[in-house]
Amino acid sequence: MLSPPELSHRAIALKPSLTLEISAKAKALQAEGRDICSLSAGEPDFNTPDFIVEAAREALSQGITRYGPAAGDPELRAALADKLSQENGIATNPEQVLICNGGKQAIYNLFQVVLNPGDEVLLPSPYWLSYPEMAALAGATTVLIPSSASDGFRLDLDALEARITPKSRLLVINSPGNPTGCVMQRQELEALAELVARHPNLLVMSDEIYEYLLAEGEQHISFASVSEGIKDRCFTVNGFAKGWAMTGWRLGYLAGNATVIKAASALQSQSTSNVCSFAQKGALAAIRGSRDCVTDMACSYNLRRNFLIEGLQSIPGITLIPPKGAFYAFPQLPERITDSMDFCRRALEDEGLAVVPGVAFGDDHCIRLSCAVSHETITNGLERLQRMLSKF
Ligand code: PLP
Repeated sequence: MLSPPELSHRAIALKPSLTLEISAKAKALQAEGRDICSLSAGEPDFNTPDFIVEAAREALSQGITRYGPAAGDPELRAALADKLSQENGIATNPEQVLICNGGKQAIYNLFQVVLNPGDEVLLPSPYWLSYPEMAALAGATTVLIPSSASDGFRLDLDALEARITPKSRLLVINSPGNPTGCVMQRQELEALAELVARHPNLLVMSDEIYEYLLAEGEQHISFASVSEGIKDRCFTVNGFAKGWAMTGWRLGYLAGNATVIKAASALQSQSTSNVCSFAQKGALAAIRGSRDCVTDMACSYNLRRNFLIEGLQSIPGITLIPPKGAFYAFPQLPERITDSMDFCRRALEDEGLAVVPGVAFGDDHCIRLSCAVSHETITNGLERLQRMLSKF
C-alpha cells in the first residue's frame, strides 16, 4: 500500500478548528436523532434580501459569467470607495479597494503581502480565531495583548505598548468584536492612534465586518478615519456576510494604501482570481441600495441580544460584559470551571447544547453563544446551560 504523501510544515502546523469540531459533533448527534439546541452559529439567520438576489440573477441572465479583473468589478470598487469615503470618513479611491472572497481572504491577502517570517502580529485577546492561523501561514508570530471579562475586555494601551518590539509589524483590531461584542469608542481609538503614531513601522488592520450590528446608542467609528497622520498605515477589512446576510456569497474587501492593495491584487490574481462575477453584481446592488434591510436585521439582533443578555445575567455564577455589537455573548463561566472545551463537549453530550468554547478565542474561562437564533432557541439553550452548570 502507498503511504500517504507527506504534508508541508505549513499544513502540519495548522490547527484544526475547534468550532468545526463542535458543530460536526452536533450534526452527528442530530443525525442520530438527538434533540440538539445550537447557539453556536456564526452567521445571520436571515436570507439575503431579495433585491440583492435579483441583481445577481439579472447579472447571470445578462451573461456576466466570465473572468473579470482580479482586483474586482471596477463599478463595485468605485462604489465601495464612495461608501468608505462618505459613510466611514476614510477618503478612498477605487485603486485602494480590493474585492476578495469574503473578509477572510482580505485578511489572508493582507497578511501575505505585508508580513515576513519572524515578524510579530500584535493581537488583542480574546480574538477571532482565524487571525493567529493566518499570521502563522505568513510565517509571522502572534503576540497576544490579554484582556478578560474582569477588565471589560478593554484593550490596555500600556500592555500593548510594552509588547512592541522592532519585530512588531501589524496590530489587529476588531470592533464590533467577535467573540466579545465589544465596541471601541472614539476616545479609545484616538488614544490608540496616538500610540501607533509613535511607532512608525507598525501597520494596523481594522476588521469592521460587524460595523452595522450595533446595540442602540452605539456608533461605529472606523479606525482609519481617526487620524490623518497614520491613515496610510491603516487597512480596513469589511464584507457583506454579516450586515447583508450574505455569508455564502463570499464577498469581502480590503482597503488602504494603493501599493499594498496592488500587491494583494497580484497575489489574488495568482491564487483565486476575481470573486464570482455575478455575485459582485449582487454586492453592487447591496452597496448602492437602501440600508433599511440592514437596519431591520440589526434591530432584530438587538432584541435577541438583549434577551440573551438578560437570560445570562440571571444565571448565578456567570459574569457577562454585555455585548454592544455583533451577535454574540461571551460570558465567563464560574471560577470552578477551568476547561471550556471540556465544558462544551459535555454540554453537547449531556444536554444536547452546542456552544463554542472560549479557548478557541484565547479565553478558556468563557463560552460563546450566538443570538442569531429564535427567542425559543435562546430560552431553551439557557435552560440547558443552567442544568449543565449545576453538574459542575
Ligand atoms: N472577521 C470576523 C471578526 C469574523 O467573525 C468573520 C466571520 O465569522 C470574518 C472576518 C470573515 O467573514 P467572511 O465570511 O466575509 O469571510
